[in-house]
Amino acid sequence: MKLTLKDPSLLRQQAYIDGEWSDADGGAKLAVTNPATGEQLGTVPLTGAAETRRAIAAANAAWPAWRKKSAKARAAVLRKWNDLILENAEDLAQLMTAEQGKPLAESRGEVAYGASFIEWFGEEAKRIAGETLASPWPDRRLLVTKEPIGVCAAITPWNFPIAMITRKVGPALAAGCPMVLKPAESTPYCALALAVLAERAGVPAGVFSVVTGTPKDIGAEMTSNPTVRKLTFTGSTAVGRLLMEQSAKTIKKLSLELGGNAPFIVFDDADLDAAVEGALASKYRNAGQTCVCANRIYVQDGVYEQFAEKLVAAVAKLKVGNGADEGVTQGPLIDEKAVQKVEQHVADALAKGGRLLAGGKRHALGHSFFQPTVIADVTSDMLVATEETFGPLAPLFRFKTDEEVIALANDTEFGLASYFYSRDIGRIWRVAEGLESGMVGVNTGLISNEIAPFGGVKQSGLGREGSRHGIDDYLVMKYVCLGGL
Ligand code: ADP
Repeated sequence: MKLTLKDPSLLRQQAYIDGEWSDADGGAKLAVTNPATGEQLGTVPLTGAAETRRAIAAANAAWPAWRKKSAKARAAVLRKWNDLILENAEDLAQLMTAEQGKPLAESRGEVAYGASFIEWFGEEAKRIAGETLASPWPDRRLLVTKEPIGVCAAITPWNFPIAMITRKVGPALAAGCPMVLKPAESTPYCALALAVLAERAGVPAGVFSVVTGTPKDIGAEMTSNPTVRKLTFTGSTAVGRLLMEQSAKTIKKLSLELGGNAPFIVFDDADLDAAVEGALASKYRNAGQTCVCANRIYVQDGVYEQFAEKLVAAVAKLKVGNGADEGVTQGPLIDEKAVQKVEQHVADALAKGGRLLAGGKRHALGHSFFQPTVIADVTSDMLVATEETFGPLAPLFRFKTDEEVIALANDTEFGLASYFYSRDIGRIWRVAEGLESGMVGVNTGLISNEIAPFGGVKQSGLGREGSRHGIDDYLVMKYVCLGGL
């Protein structure tokens, strides 16, 4: 393959189980391709239930020693891991663009963003604290301690091949829990490179394992195995629901980061240029393939045409191409299925009266490239109103009043992110409070960082990642009643 890394040992084509690099039991392999070229990058083992079971058993065996380490000692390992990720940032970015397709500039940004979770949670490890309570009895004292929940399993998506992993494994390891990870089939190499660096940083064998392979079989083992105390998943709502159902039998603690259908509202008092810039960043980042991407753009009547015109002019400047090439701002979509979904949304909108302002078709580059698209006169009966497009399509809805747009924005089972642009302080408070979502961006299209809690309400999921709250998902409370004083 053409990929040249400064450190070629970062590209591993084996699973990492209990500190060993290994193939699938039967030797079966899965191909990994570059979505920009269709070229095969290599393979990974097609592992299943048996290998996953071994990784879980190894995690359980490694758990006592890892939890017994002081928080400071665990933090030192995580600090080293963070530093190694940053030292190898360029190689990791190249790997990411090759297997995922996003422009190199975005991959570099994600490596730094991904590392920040390891750094942050290493620091948070030292701040895990319990409490003492006012006792109702004179001869007894009441204490609450926080303990690591135990063996954790993680299933992650392809759209952020590093950050979606580090925001799970960072807090797990910091809390004193081991983790078995199943990365997405299309982006396993970033996950395996993280494992190489974790080993170099001193993460003991078994504390972090990576199994690549058959989602259904690995997922079934992770959810049914009683040793796994917690499952953390980022992906589609449908798979999240299935994993939740499967986990019911063993009552696992769950963290779920599921789909979104983010509204992006432009009020008539907005700074329109800033709103266009925000919409561009929120909609077209990663070719529209993030769960916090603007999915429905609501523009108030008085500024509708003006906003549409400015957005179309900005979209015309996007450069579509292989993310590895300089200056490219939009790479390919992850696969053919993703392109078909965008095509379906475009066709449905146009058939129901949408007005095509830009793009609308597959890109001349072929493969899974799609033109940045803008459609005006979009209405609530179109597919884009209810389904996440996960592609570079900006649908412009029109609205008149604040009450109307809040109702429209909330008319979805999802509640992950929402955005709006306004300069009226009263309106800002009313709308921010009125939107049913876990995160709200006001006058900004970019909200994610390791310091703030990321997560959704309604069917967008359970739990929060990042922030000082993110570690709680990996801890359980123990109440100790100390008597006989
Ligand atoms: P997307 O459609 O964006 O790929 P998915 O929810 O299908 O989203 O994928 C997210 C992650 O879930 C991936 O790692 C994928 O392999 C995994 N996955 C998909 N189906 C299952 C399943 N039945 N059991 C466990 N994991 C699954």
